[in-house]
Amino acid sequence: MIWDAIIIGGGAAGLFCAGIAGQLGKKVLVLDHAPVLGEKIRISGGGRCNFTNLHSAPEHFLSLNPHFVKSPLARYSAKDFINLVREYRIPFHEKHRGQLFCDNSAKDIIQMLLTECQKGDVTVHHPVSVTHISQTQSHWSLETTDGIKKATHLIIATGGLPVPAIGASDFGLQIAKQFEIPTTSVRPALVPLSFTSNEFSAFTSLAGISIEASVQAGQRNQSYGTYRFDEDLLITHKGLSGPAILQASSYWQEGEAIHINWLGKADFDALFSEADKKNVDTILAEALPQRVAQLLTEQLKLTKRNWAEVSKKDREVLRTHLTKAQMKPAGTLGWKKAEVMLGGIDTKALDGKTMMAKNLKNLYFIGECVDITGHLGGHNFQWAWSSAFVCANAIAHLKS
Ligand SMILES: Cc1cc2nc3c(=O)[nH]c(=O)nc-3n(C[C@H](O)[C@H](O)[C@H](O)COP(=O)(O)OP(=O)(O)OC[C@H]3O[C@@H](n4cnc5c(N)ncnc54)[C@H](O)[C@@H]3O)c2cc1C
Repeated sequence: MIWDAIIIGGGAAGLFCAGIAGQLGKKVLVLDHAPVLGEKIRISGGGRCNFTNLHSAPEHFLSLNPHFVKSPLARYSAKDFINLVREYRIPFHEKHRGQLFCDNSAKDIIQMLLTECQKGDVTVHHPVSVTHISQTQSHWSLETTDGIKKATHLIIATGGLPVPAIGASDFGLQIAKQFEIPTTSVRPALVPLSFTSNEFSAFTSLAGISIEASVQAGQRNQSYGTYRFDEDLLITHKGLSGPAILQASSYWQEGEAIHINWLGKADFDALFSEADKKNVDTILAEALPQRVAQLLTEQLKLTKRNWAEVSKKDREVLRTHLTKAQMKPAGTLGWKKAEVMLGGIDTKALDGKTMMAKNLKNLYFIGECVDITGHLGGHNFQWAWSSAFVCANAIAHLKS
C-alpha cells in the first residue's frame, strides 16, 4: 500500500503531526527506531514535562533566520496546546515565568499524543530502522528493517543529537545531505559549561550553591548576538549550570568569556551605601550566600576589610569583580547533557507555511531537527507542536 504520509520519528513533533493528519483523514504510518516512544518527553522537565510557555513568542527562539518561527507560532500557539491539554483534563501548573508543567507526570502528555494518534487511526511501527530512502515520480520508497514502505509525503521528525542513550540521531541531517538540502552548523545548547581546573579550582568547594545572578554571553556571536539572562546560576563540581548558564550556553561560542553579575538584581551602590563600619564580606553576604561572598572578596584580598578603609580605586575593582566578572568556559558538557541541538535544517530551504523542502516536493522537516532553537522554559516543545501542526495541515489540505 502507499501511505498518505510516513513520519520518521515518533517523538513530540512526530506523534503530534501524525495525530492531526490522521484525524484530518490521512493514512499515516509512524516509524521510530526506539523500543519506547516519547522518551525525551518522559525525561523532560524533571519528569513533569514543561510542555509550553505562556509567553512563547519569536524572541524566545534562536535561528539564523529568526523570522521563520513567526508564522508557525502564530498558526498554533501556546494557547492552542493548552486548550488540548485542558480537553484531556491533564492537571498542570505554572512554575515560573509562564513555564507550564504537568502536576503528575510527563507520561500524561505522551498518553495524550498516543490517544490523538489512535483517534486518527495512525499506525505506529517501532523499533524499526530506515536504511534507505528514494523517491519515484509518484511516491517515496523506504527500505526498513520491517520491509519496504511507500508514501506520498515523507516527514522527518527525528529530533536533535542530545542524549544519544535514548535514541537521538543525526538522521535528519543525513537525509538533508542526501537530498542536498542545506543545514546550519549544529552544537549542543541548553547545556552546562565546563572550565579548566585552573580557572575553576576556587569554585569547586562551592559546588551545590545556587545564586540568582545575571549572565551574558554571545559578545562574539555574529549569528545570534548577545543575550542576558537573569536567573539562577548553579555552581557544580565540573563548572557552572542552572537556568542562567543553560540559557547563556546557547549564545556562548568557544574562546569567548561569559559575563557574570554575581549580584543579580541587587544594586552595588545601594548594597554598600551605608556600609562604612562593616567588613566587605559581611555586607556582600547580605546579597549572596556567605561562602560565595567570602570567596569573591578573598580573590581581591578584601575579606575582613572595613569598607571605610577600601580605597576608591579598590571599590571600583570590586564593583567590576562582582558585576562584570568574566569567566572563560573551556567547553560544554556536550550532547550527553544538552537539552537541545542548536542549528539544523536551514529554514531558508523550507516553506514556513508547510515545512516542506523548497527543492523537493513532499519532503518535510519538523521539530528539533530544524534550525529553530527555543530558550529554556517550554519553548522547544512549543516549536515541536507548532511545526507539526503546520505540516499536518499542509499534507491534509495540499494536493499531492
Ligand atoms: C533532558 C531533557 C529535558 C528537556 N526538557 C524540556 C522541557 O521541559 N521543555 C521543553 O520545551 N523542551 C525540553 N527538552 C527539549 C525537547 O525534549 C525537544 O526539543 C523535543 O522533544 C523535540 O521534539 P522532536 O519531536 O523534534 O524530537 P524528539 O522528541 O527527540 O523525537 C525524535 C524521535 O525520533 C526518533 N529517531 C531519532 N533518530 C531516528 C532514526 N534514525 N530512525 C527512526 N527514528 C529516529 C527518536 O527515537 C525519537 O522518538 C528537553 C530535552 C532533554 C534532553
